[in-house]
Amino acid sequence: MRAPLVVANWKMHGSARFVDAWFAQVGDRLPGPGVRVAALPPFVYLAQAVARAGGRILVGAQDLCEHAEGAYTGEVSAAMLADVGCALVVVGHSERRRLYGEDDRRVAAKFAVAQAAGLLPVLCVGETAEERARGETLAVVRRQLSAVAERVGGKALARGLIAYEPVWAIGSGETATPAQAQEVHAAIRAALGPAGERTTILYGGSVNPDNAPALFAAPDVDGALVGGASLDPAQFVAICHAASEIAP
Ligand code: PEP
Repeated sequence: MRAPLVVANWKMHGSARFVDAWFAQVGDRLPGPGVRVAALPPFVYLAQAVARAGGRILVGAQDLCEHAEGAYTGEVSAAMLADVGCALVVVGHSERRRLYGEDDRRVAAKFAVAQAAGLLPVLCVGETAEERARGETLAVVRRQLSAVAERVGGKALARGLIAYEPVWAIGSGETATPAQAQEVHAAIRAALGPAGERTTILYGGSVNPDNAPALFAAPDVDGALVGGASLDPAQFVAICHAASEIAP
């Protein structure tokens, strides 16, 4: 069985004070260990977050460099993330793809270095509104998965985590319906082959305490990657409690 996972993507929000307050408010109110919980603060707060997380909450990064080390000013390596206690890292978030020009090739390289450093990569895939309107959703998602499978192999891809994040649903207040999410999650699982039965596939895109229960009820939705609502500890905790309904 796949234990549900709820991940808080703070994006470029927060402060040292916010880190302390968030972990203090979330830490004590979480459901039991049947629900896995993770937070992704900005790089500069990772070590502080690991110190505050106290073991119950995993800490991860929102991105990493595809190179191991060297003259890459401003970048952060997989080994550095592991060194400060990160357990996971997002690769290929649509904001990175769209605003910073990250293509499938670079995303695949990031997935590979993350896994090699012992981090759990969370590969984000998803279509734009235009691609959905043209009926290309599944083709886009399969292309994004294939790029990583070609680089690391299908089994290694299935050992990572996948987040289906329709680009049109991120930060827009518009959410995929549970049926839309289920269709894509099932296609992702099928593309991963038999090993995909154990792969955690998250949904992301304007998840909140109201829409989370119906999304989590879809059989191939194993949790959520939560942006905006994760900044409010009460909303994030409520989403984690909704996930406990699907815990094995
Ligand atoms: C995200 O940042 O991955 C995300 C899904 O954001 P939001 O929940 O705000 O749509």
